[in-house]
Amino acid sequence: MPAIAFLECSRCRHHVSAATPQTLCPLCAGSLYVRYDMEALKRTAKREDIVPRAAASSTSLGMWRYSAVLPDVTPVTLGEGWTPMLKSKRYPGLFIKEEGANPTGTFKARGLGLAVTMAKHYGLQHLAVPSAGNAAGALAAYAAAADIAAHIFMPKDVPFANYLEGIVYGADVTMVDGLISDCARMVGENIKAQKEANTPPEQVWFDISTLKEPFRVEGKKTMGYELVEQLGWTYPDAVFYPTGGGVGLIGMWKAFEEMEELGWIEKGSKRPKMYALQAAGCAPITTAFEAHKPVSEFFQNAATFAAGLRVPKPYGDTIILDILAKSGGQAISATDEAILASILDWAKNEGLFLSPEGAAATAAYDQLIASGDLKPTDKVVLFNTGAGLKYTDMTAEAMHLKRPS
Ligand SMILES: [Zn+2]
Repeated sequence: MPAIAFLECSRCRHHVSAATPQTLCPLCAGSLYVRYDMEALKRTAKREDIVPRAAASSTSLGMWRYSAVLPDVTPVTLGEGWTPMLKSKRYPGLFIKEEGANPTGTFKARGLGLAVTMAKHYGLQHLAVPSAGNAAGALAAYAAAADIAAHIFMPKDVPFANYLEGIVYGADVTMVDGLISDCARMVGENIKAQKEANTPPEQVWFDISTLKEPFRVEGKKTMGYELVEQLGWTYPDAVFYPTGGGVGLIGMWKAFEEMEELGWIEKGSKRPKMYALQAAGCAPITTAFEAHKPVSEFFQNAATFAAGLRVPKPYGDTIILDILAKSGGQAISATDEAILASILDWAKNEGLFLSPEGAAATAAYDQLIASGDLKPTDKVVLFNTGAGLKYTDMTAEAMHLKRPS
């Protein structure tokens, strides 16, 4: 496991030491990326070592099978990562990356698994997060595993499972009459008030928001390593990624860059086209993409039952839009009706109960197949970011389904 060389600002490239906990770039408030000494890594990190090391371990290494490219710390792990890559029955080129198999049932386990690991390493005692729901559940679980206090803020109409997780794992839960953007403001106000009241530093909350600290991206990058390893160290033609905050998209792009530098993937391989999939009821990235704008605008009156996509203005919007453009991908939105239809289609025809976010991606896939922009034989990895079973209340409501009395 390599030492972190430095943290690098995604905007101005300023370097910051990782010796103490960091949030954003002190010069320009850009998100920070974790950087290693790549020359040293080229000599020590070998992709051939991954399989034998994982096979020799008596426990599941999960995403820590990539410890050669992750920070040198003792993991707080609940078995996150190394999720199944399922081949579609109907489309010969389509693979579903089943992130619902993670602890807490979503991909959030990767980013928060690593972020909480680092928080424990730094000795932080209080972590706070604004969440559309699933990040709150994941933080609550990993914080409990690490004996750290979790303070979570989420909209009051999140899936019931997210509220229940917070309570069961013993987190400090605040349900907010508003959106994730309101939750973020409240976390910021609490921290500011604590500092103004001269709260002892160890009692002040650390904001573990998406892209406002460097390690959630670093955990999510393992999705990029995994999909490439599961395809025999090759790129697919396209990656379909349901995009709320977009951390996974940013993390995967970082993984591709690292793998090319390490020689884990053949030089000159064409990177996949990256597709960001959103719900029509909250589509800031699609709106900006279609208008050829480099930055998104706050999406007014966000409403969709794909709760994880209710992020009206992602902090990493410029990075996401840049990746879509560079890769030749697109941003596409699906209506709630199309998302629900796709959930039912995949459940009945393939035995997969997708999350509404995952179904936003399958609905977009169907659109592109119908328009001829994609062929069923094109190799596509589509992320089902969470288990459909975390959304029983919201999906039942969308179906107007009630328990028979
Ligand atoms: Zn900067």
